[in-house]
Amino acid sequence: MKQKVIILGSTGSIGQNTLQVIAQHPDAFEVVGLGAGSRWKPLATQARYWKPSCVALADEAGQGELTAAAPPGVRVLAGPDALSRLIEETKCDCVVSAIVGAAGLPATLRAVELGRKVAIANKEALVVAGSVLMPLARRTGATILPVDSEHSAVFQALQAGRREDVERIVLTGSGGPFRTATPEELSRVTPSDALNHPTWDMGPKITIDSATMMNKALEIIEARWLFDMPHDRIDVVIHPESIVHSLVEFRDGSVVAQLGTPDMRVPIQYALTFPRRLPCPAQRLCLHTLGKMTFFAPDMDRFPSLRIGHAVAQRGGTTGAVLNAANEEANALFRAGAIGFTDIVPLTEEVLGQHTCVDDPDLAALLAADAWARQRLAECASRITEHAARVR
Ligand code: NAD
Ligand code: MG
Repeated sequence: MKQKVIILGSTGSIGQNTLQVIAQHPDAFEVVGLGAGSRWKPLATQARYWKPSCVALADEAGQGELTAAAPPGVRVLAGPDALSRLIEETKCDCVVSAIVGAAGLPATLRAVELGRKVAIANKEALVVAGSVLMPLARRTGATILPVDSEHSAVFQALQAGRREDVERIVLTGSGGPFRTATPEELSRVTPSDALNHPTWDMGPKITIDSATMMNKALEIIEARWLFDMPHDRIDVVIHPESIVHSLVEFRDGSVVAQLGTPDMRVPIQYALTFPRRLPCPAQRLCLHTLGKMTFFAPDMDRFPSLRIGHAVAQRGGTTGAVLNAANEEANALFRAGAIGFTDIVPLTEEVLGQHTCVDDPDLAALLAADAWARQRLAECASRITEHAARVR
């Protein structure tokens, strides 16, 4: 029996890598649904090739064109709830959650509500609403499997022992392109500098997050929820080669790690096939050629994001929603050229500092915190954008 797969965010970097994995194993998988944000053209191309039973576009504006370009027999849904409807109305075994940002939360939540197997790349959904998603999954029987390479590595390493024997998790991070930059150099970083990641080829938002190390902060929170691990048992080590994808330390001091060349097809495929493994065309790791690997303690002064990530993982409540929303907005403003690279983290921290945390929030409280943080970030950033306009 083929596994029926829906991909949310199919036109993005993770989405396309997922389709590559599926193309390698036509006997194992069948694409039954594809969903994307606003670009109807690549979605139509995918629909023609994969012939899923349904495609969904979040932006209603592309509905006419997508309907005209989709092959006969493929249903087209469009509008803000189209991706959630895709999940509800298409029978599937697995949902790959690969939309970028909190925008991916509603459809991911729907998949969890329906008890589906969810391969989750959309870390922002966990950062915002891990406190809702994880207990919900336990109630509905949904399985949430990590796609993020670090979390896949932890998940794989966890298979080596009992949960009660785990002492800590160590997430690796490449340190991004500015690991050794001076504060002066950091202040002059342009969007195109920051969009050039040394080891991973990813979508624009996460590439900027990797450069500010906010990605690692989000990953600490993601790990906190996925593995139910207190923040003080989650460590980060900088490993520029991105070969060791993360590690788990057990009670007896044994450290189990997962290694491989940096290629997202490996963790995507593992999430789809777990507990089995299938061949994968990713380049094999050759330790003879690699020769050596390096590891460093993260520089918290240069990259305060990690401190923020730990604080939010510890505090919980609505702080994850606020951190994520403020960072999404600051990240987008930087990519649009409206604020500087070194404004992203301080602005995000400023908004977080102004927030009154709500404990044990329900989904409505999390969404309200998200909306509040976006508004506050825009207000705080206007100080910088207005100043820049005056200087010009
Ligand atoms: P991307 O920008 O390449 O793709 C994003 C996808 O989301 C696109 O298909 C886009 O159409 C869709 N989308 C955007 N806004 C939407 C909306 N409002 N409604 C519905 N769909 C929308 O992003 P990516 O790099 O593939 O990242 C996707 C997710 O995976 C992110 O959460 C990211 O943190 C995570 N992730 C990515 C990588 C990677 O290698 N790219 C690695 C680990 C984790
Ligand atoms: Mg990662």
